[in-house]
Amino acid sequence: MVPVRHHRAQAVAGGLLVVLTGRMTNIFDLTGTTAIVTGGNRGIGLGMAEGLAAAGAAVSIWGRSAERNEEAAEQLRSHGGEVLTVSCDVADEDAVRGAFAETLDAFGKVDACFANAGVGAGSTRFEDMTTDEWRHIMSVNLDGVFFTLREAASHMKQRGEGGSLVVTASVAARLGMPRGEHYSATKAAVTGLARSLAVEYGRHGIRANSVLPGWVVTDMSAPITKGERAGPVMLARTPAGRFGEADDFAGIAVYLASKASSWHTGDEIVIDGGFSKT
Ligand code: NAP
Repeated sequence: MVPVRHHRAQAVAGGLLVVLTGRMTNIFDLTGTTAIVTGGNRGIGLGMAEGLAAAGAAVSIWGRSAERNEEAAEQLRSHGGEVLTVSCDVADEDAVRGAFAETLDAFGKVDACFANAGVGAGSTRFEDMTTDEWRHIMSVNLDGVFFTLREAASHMKQRGEGGSLVVTASVAARLGMPRGEHYSATKAAVTGLARSLAVEYGRHGIRANSVLPGWVVTDMSAPITKGERAGPVMLARTPAGRFGEADDFAGIAVYLASKASSWHTGDEIVIDGGFSKT
């Protein structure tokens, strides 16, 4: 006969094994969770939203163009989950408040928020950069992230069940970007924002991380990635031998939204095919 203590130990061990096995098999499962992806109607944001939807999350994608939002939503719905589209300019504080409220009305909660929407730099020399150009980049890439993550952090803290805040920065946060000083400045700023959020909200179970992509083939990067002169130069500096694709960002989105990353916070995660290491 098995002594009671041994029996209990076996039961506990068995339970642990089930828990562990469960975690091992379901560690990336997002069923029952919800996520916002700003700029989720194309490019990197759509790649992230695809990963989240495929892993079972209900996804709210925000973008200015209702038409692009609907096209993307149709694609995302093929995964079988709920998809909400919200027309929103993230540079507009009231619009962000409204978009967040609309998402909460539809989903009841937000577990993960990806502040991904952004605009790229033009090719203006720094000495010719106008204040309007500077402010435009600031308003979307920095103010937009602030407005979005402020709503999300406030909701997550109030709800008391933790959450994941993610900002799409860029390797430009760390590398010099000629004629992109305004862009680079916003990307460095948002990594600092995420790092500080990780410290302020850690005790509420809220994590905050930045994703730093290198060159990824999207509408924004087309002048470089598809450029006759710049394209081959940048490609030659990319050890992976290819530019990134939007779906290269599905995995990191799922990881950061899931239990798999429950102790990962305050970090800058570089996904660039090795570009920044050369
Ligand atoms: P993209 O293909 O041009 O997509 C940009 C997305 O942001 C679109 O969904 C767009 O939707 C949305 N958006 C732009 N301005 C907005 C605004 N004011 N309010 C709300 N949504 C807005 O660009 P991407 O390359 O995927 O870039 C996504 C993020 O990755 C950006 O933050 C970018 O800085 C960063 N990034 C990109 C690269 C790269 O090589 N592609 C590299 C490093 C970092 P609407 O047009 O419908 O508003």
